[in-house]
Amino acid sequence: MPDVMKTLLLNPPSFENFDGGASSRWPATREIESYWYPVWLTYPAGMLPGSRLLDASPHKVSWKQTIEIAKDYEFLVLFTSTVGFASDLKLTRLIKERNPGLKIAFVGPHGHIKPDETLQASEDIDFVTRGEFDHSVVEFAQGKPLAEIAGISYRKDGKIVHNPDRAQLHTVELDALPFATEIYKRDLEIERYNVPFLLHPFVSFYTSRGCPALCTFCMWPQTISGHAWRVRSAENVAREVKFAIEAFPQMKEIFFDDDTFNIRKDRVLELCKLFKPLKFRWSSTARVHSDYETLKAMADGGARLFIVGFESGDAQILKNIKKGATVEMARTFMKNCRKVGIRVHGDFIIGLPGETRESIANTIEFAKELDCETIQVSLAHAMPGTELHDQMARDGFLRVEALADSGGHQLPHIEFPHLSKAEMMAGVHRFYDEYYFRPKVAWRIIREALWDGHERKRLYHEAVDFLKLRSERLKWARQQHDAPAKTVVSVPGAAASAND
Ligand code: SF4
Repeated sequence: MPDVMKTLLLNPPSFENFDGGASSRWPATREIESYWYPVWLTYPAGMLPGSRLLDASPHKVSWKQTIEIAKDYEFLVLFTSTVGFASDLKLTRLIKERNPGLKIAFVGPHGHIKPDETLQASEDIDFVTRGEFDHSVVEFAQGKPLAEIAGISYRKDGKIVHNPDRAQLHTVELDALPFATEIYKRDLEIERYNVPFLLHPFVSFYTSRGCPALCTFCMWPQTISGHAWRVRSAENVAREVKFAIEAFPQMKEIFFDDDTFNIRKDRVLELCKLFKPLKFRWSSTARVHSDYETLKAMADGGARLFIVGFESGDAQILKNIKKGATVEMARTFMKNCRKVGIRVHGDFIIGLPGETRESIANTIEFAKELDCETIQVSLAHAMPGTELHDQMARDGFLRVEALADSGGHQLPHIEFPHLSKAEMMAGVHRFYDEYYFRPKVAWRIIREALWDGHERKRLYHEAVDFLKLRSERLKWARQQHDAPAKTVVSVPGAAASAND
């Protein structure tokens, strides 16, 4: 038997259809069901012999089944989120009743931001990790005393102790980590992961950690991944690609789910040189900074689609959120993507600081001008731990403290004196309608469906979900219009699933 604690790494079944967090940057219940891979949990899973990674929601594992599974383990590593936290506490209580000797660590951004509150919330939690937790939980499972593990907080003699921070991993250490895809192969079914704009089935993993950009709303670089951009070597990434191609012959594409994939030109060119002979299709996150030469190399290396956070078509709003990009850069980037044949899924946010009725209208026009393949429009959401959250709280624009309702659906919680949440929601609704109900966009979607039977079925289901969501949004807008000012209802489709 391996000389480590038998460890269960859990992305918990907080709510039905909840995309909880172990690589979802916006933890929430999605109305159009979709899940990201629990990438962060795969690394300790790969370093701990005898462990299991359980991603409950996409695999439809219930609370009861999770409790039953956890009874056979000595150590539970649970990736919690602010939205799922209260539910995760209830689950761990039940797990602990069934398996009283179990040790429990809570990992992820929530504990990083609020280690004291997290520990005070339940005696069931033995320790909380701060920052990257790959080695923190492995060291515990190997028997290292809590006092000697960097980057954790724990309880001692009734007091909370915060150990010194853990240094972030850089290239050599990142290359030494196991491949996330080895754990997918061991513990997950890749067909369970569906994201509307990616080909199905896809496999995703990271080639780097962190993002140097300072976008005020973006949670991960402000919590666990940081602003220092740290990369795996190109050879190491290419080796994982080869492994994934062989391990998953049914896979339609790889998604490089880095905070931002295309930060540095020379690295992108180096990667693409290694990708080209492997002849595989891939998509990635991207900022609008890459020039034509880089994009051409990416297209030649197999790139199919980028997820790009354009956020707004208003120059001042881009400055307000420290996007570090301009509308002109976005235009040039889109023009070059079109030239080299790479598609773009564009993310936009309504309700950022400085938003007005006019800026919403301008952003809709801007999106139509860019004419991305698909778009996603979200209401601004100020996650705890972000600059946006502090700013909105300070300025008195956080109207509802709760981030989500009892089902994990996002609640609208930002409102400006000149722009109500109902008006912002109407803006989201109008955005989708004006964008998608254009003949050329409708034809683009139908053309896609005509060529591919599998895609046809998927697009049909998504279209049905989209129309259902659209009618729920309309109902919500009417309720808001009729409701007293303090009524709180969750917003259909407000949750962003965008990753950049
Ligand atoms: S939104 Fe994208 S570019 Fe901005 S900080 Fe987050 S990951 Fe980086």
